Amino acid sequence: MTASCDILVVGGGIVGLAAAFRLLESRPGLRLVLLEKEGALARHQTGHNSGVLHSGLYYKPGSEKAKLSVSGLQEMLAFCKAHGIAHDQCGKIVVATSEAELPRLEDLWRRGNANGLLGMRRLSAAQIKEIEPHAAGVAAIHVPQEGIVDYPAVSEKLGELIRRQGGEIRLNARVQNLAAAANSEWTAQTTAGAVRARFVITCAGLHSDRVVKAAGQKPGARIVPFRGEYYKIKKERQHLVRNLIYPVPDPKFPFLGVHFTRLIHGGIEAGPNAVLAFAREGYRWTTVNLRDLAEALLFPGLWRFLAAYPSMCGYEIRRSLSKSEFCRSLQKLVPEIRAGDLEPGGAGVRAQAMTANGKLVEDFHFEEQPGILHVVNAPSPAATASLAIGRRITEKVFERLQEPAK
Ligand SMILES: Cc1cc2nc3c(=O)[nH]c(=O)nc-3n(C[C@H](O)[C@H](O)[C@H](O)COP(=O)(O)OP(=O)(O)OC[C@H]3O[C@@H](n4cnc5c(N)ncnc54)[C@H](O)[C@@H]3O)c2cc1C
Repeated sequence: MTASCDILVVGGGIVGLAAAFRLLESRPGLRLVLLEKEGALARHQTGHNSGVLHSGLYYKPGSEKAKLSVSGLQEMLAFCKAHGIAHDQCGKIVVATSEAELPRLEDLWRRGNANGLLGMRRLSAAQIKEIEPHAAGVAAIHVPQEGIVDYPAVSEKLGELIRRQGGEIRLNARVQNLAAAANSEWTAQTTAGAVRARFVITCAGLHSDRVVKAAGQKPGARIVPFRGEYYKIKKERQHLVRNLIYPVPDPKFPFLGVHFTRLIHGGIEAGPNAVLAFAREGYRWTTVNLRDLAEALLFPGLWRFLAAYPSMCGYEIRRSLSKSEFCRSLQKLVPEIRAGDLEPGGAGVRAQAMTANGKLVEDFHFEEQPGILHVVNAPSPAATASLAIGRRITEKVFERLQEPAK
């Protein structure tokens, strides 16, 4: 039997959940179904990230990332306060470790100001020590807005509120196909039965391009999975890091570089790096999915990317395989850290959209078909920005349905 609803959301990560939550908040009584292929929510990017509340420091002024992370941070903080979710606006420092990085630090300062961040401070080498006594650098920026949070707890709470508002969440329901019907509705065939909807929103993270294809459209970009691996700092050495210590990122890549992160439930993580994963859900080197790997290797964009940045790709592989190489990059930020202070941590896989000419899609990216909105690229800081992305999706959906969002 085919179930029927007004809105169907595909994907139970933080973006799909936030979209469903905002839709129901805006229109109580809406018949909404959310489908998730796993047996629980937040099993992929949302449950494997650094848990950082980003402020909007890095992003190009005017971009969706800049706009939605600045407002999204405020929305996430308000949500956490309202629902008692563990978080701490502890602030972070971005450290230039050589004179050569100073112009890029200055660019960040300009971007942060252009994006409306208040209270940022420039730090001298001596002032860095006042905030992070064991960090070293020639200069830094202190960003007081940034913080840490428990994103899986946010996701669980969103799930609870969706159900409370009358939405249905179906787990173990993988969407296999999306077919348009004559009356402009869509039918999703899933591993847990069919669902018909007036409007579909897809937020499938590492499979976002495949879901676009499953709806009969050629995606404008391909998802390439980049694994990010972490180490944990041993308990007796955790005093080396108070909160968040970040390097100055390389502007050519959307990844922020290995950094130190205090975790909201205790402990310090170092990472993540960025290596090509051999499976879209490949959390280890040994996890290989032949379909994922073949698709990646047959994608000309990946070869163009590798050809454009061979030394960076080689370095990332070496750093992934060598703890001492990984430690050397951490020592630039905290010179006292030793390889012996690091023990293996977890890993996450980033769903990074790439175009056929080998360019990484930096901004959040949506694609549309009549009656469907696909979230194709929602990389970091989409967890921070999720409630603002959900609001943006809500506006778009009601605009398409020609009903004002309330
Ligand atoms: C290593 C790492 C560190 C990061 N650090 C941060 C950070 O500190 N702060 C921050 O803001 N962001 C961070 N991010 C980014 C952030 O985690 C993501 O932007 C965010 O989680 C994306 O959420 P999502 O819902 O789009 O994707 P996901 O969480 O991946 O959810 C997508 C869901 O769709 C489901 N799905 C896929 N295909 C189907 C299908 N066919 N049918 C049904 N369900 C399907 C999947 O099972 C999955 O649950 C990080 C990401 C990584 C990988």
